[in-house]
Amino acid sequence: MTRNPLDTVRGQLDFIGELAKIEPSVIEQLKNSRKVIEVSLPVRMDDGKVEVFTGYRVHYCSWRGPYKGGIRYHPTANLDEVKALAAWMTFKTAVVDLPYGGSKGGVICNPQELSIFELERLTRRYTSMICDDIGPFKDVPAPDVGTNAQIMAWVMDTYSTLKGYSVPEVVTGKPISLGGSYGREGATGKGLTICAKEAADRIGLTLKGATIAIQGYGKVGFSVAKNLAAMNAKIIAVTDIGGGVYDPKGLNISKLKAYEGEKGSVASFPQTKPISNEELFALKCDILVPAALENVITEQNADTIDAKMVVEGANGPTTPEADKILHEKGIFVIPDILANAGGVTVSYFEWIQNLNRDRWRLEIVNKRLEERMVNAFQVVYNLSKERAESLRTAAYILAVESLAEAHLKLGLFP
Ligand code: NAD
Repeated sequence: MTRNPLDTVRGQLDFIGELAKIEPSVIEQLKNSRKVIEVSLPVRMDDGKVEVFTGYRVHYCSWRGPYKGGIRYHPTANLDEVKALAAWMTFKTAVVDLPYGGSKGGVICNPQELSIFELERLTRRYTSMICDDIGPFKDVPAPDVGTNAQIMAWVMDTYSTLKGYSVPEVVTGKPISLGGSYGREGATGKGLTICAKEAADRIGLTLKGATIAIQGYGKVGFSVAKNLAAMNAKIIAVTDIGGGVYDPKGLNISKLKAYEGEKGSVASFPQTKPISNEELFALKCDILVPAALENVITEQNADTIDAKMVVEGANGPTTPEADKILHEKGIFVIPDILANAGGVTVSYFEWIQNLNRDRWRLEIVNKRLEERMVNAFQVVYNLSKERAESLRTAAYILAVESLAEAHLKLGLFP
């Protein structure tokens, strides 16, 4: 049975609460969402029939600032998953010290089976139904699995139309022409690469020539592949929803992306061997990057992992039981709430630029991203050494202590 990610979140909070001696009522509040919105979305399909979809938006915690979190379009999206993802956003924005809380949205649908017109109508209907609950100072959505810059453009346009004026700062991850930030598209992968480099320096691994295996070749998987390949690392295996490819000599990242764009999957890319997810996880390599969905490294396969480092691109890819096994095996794990925070960091930069009606050059965005990620990595790493805990535990201690401190200063209403 698949593990409920919300149980994982609550377990993590109980553990950190005891370890860091956090006031139990703070932990209790952090185990629950502040507000849950469920919407039913009637959408006219291209054949004239009406189909009804279900969507969610979860406001998890806003102690450190407005709610912030992506929108996922996926057939298995569900409320507990959205809540867990919203919780992880809350911890992530605290770890990288962004003035945000955490939220998330989801619509149960398969975007690959919808036409572009159906996707647009679905997105506009969803936005119109959560319109009063999002806003530049309330809750700022962004892309996640199954959504992209075009979908964010429709969110912005629908919200702006309903308000009667243009509001680019209501959503991040927009196209550049609508106020999107340079560097947002590849920001999560860049952040993962910065963390991998920081970790590699500390465990004596050289990224040049290092072998990399990646699960997922979407926005995150491709951008981390591109960034690591630019540092002369060798991407030897990639899987996606349609299959996987392996080449011990190293895959050509851009040709693989062009092929995937055309065929819909990396599967059967010429001159490579096919590889399954399980084989990819068990592959001997230097760095393993899960960049698809949660709960993929479990107690069933954790023992087979033969990598020096796991860099979590996806949110919640490792179950707590598997995490323990990886720790015992001495594998260096960079946890999701630190490793993949580059995306929300550049989303924050986009929001600042929009609020100021400004545009930063790519070099400035990348420099500021690097500064923030290196700093966050150092803080988490030093805390992990100081307390003799894993990087994940240290990241959670940092997040929960910072949230508890904010809560203490805010006090309780009424
Ligand atoms: P995406 O939709 O662009 O890509 C998802 C990829 O996962 C696709 O290549 C898909 O084929 C693959 N996939 C799906 N099921 C799979 C399976 N069973 N086996 C192998 N591959 C499979 O999504 P994304 O934005 O790249 O997000 C990936 C992960 O990263 C998610 O967990 C997301 O929450 C997390 N994340 C994304 C961002 C961001 O900026 N987009 C930021 C932080 C974290």
